[in-house]
Amino acid sequence: MPTIGVLALQGDVREHLRMLTEAGATATAVRRPGELEAVDALVIPGGESTTMWKLAETFDLLEPLRIRVKDGMPAYGSCAGMIMLADRIQDGIAGQQTVGGIDMVVRRNAFGRQVDSFEEDLDFAGQMIRAVFIRAPWVESVGPDVEVLGLAEPGDRIVAVRQGPLLATSFHPELTGDTRVHAYFVDMVRGSSR
Ligand code: GLN
Repeated sequence: MPTIGVLALQGDVREHLRMLTEAGATATAVRRPGELEAVDALVIPGGESTTMWKLAETFDLLEPLRIRVKDGMPAYGSCAGMIMLADRIQDGIAGQQTVGGIDMVVRRNAFGRQVDSFEEDLDFAGQMIRAVFIRAPWVESVGPDVEVLGLAEPGDRIVAVRQGPLLATSFHPELTGDTRVHAYFVDMVRGSSR
């Protein structure tokens, strides 16, 4: 059973821990570099990416996160976590940094400028799921190695992507009680350790 950490600096940590456990992983909160070293994979939750970035610097986690992602650790970012996994962002605050890893441009609060939150059914990697968006980013553009896994109705915006062992969604599957997105990630983690 893989051990999957949830970055627990800020955001909806508990919900992800529960969903990962239900999807068959051993789930644990990650707040320190030593805890990051101990996990096979990591979920970066929704919350506020600017706060998460600052706390990651304060807790000396930003560089260790970059190194582990560069070394191939599977990671899944939802909403603010998607922003954290983006190589490039738009509408960040001054100086805002990310962990990076996915060759994409993510626009922060992109849907939020029209409507703060909404839900819709959408196709995620071939399965219909209920997607909950809260001040959500969208993906403006992706590089050649990025696979698009989901689009949202307003404007056919890219809201789910994968690049190798990295997965990101604009929406919050941890809030729906449906474990299929987490199960998809747990399968990715199992596949990468084989
Ligand atoms: N708008 C938030 C940010 O910039 C993301 C919102 C969320 O994670 N629900 O990080």
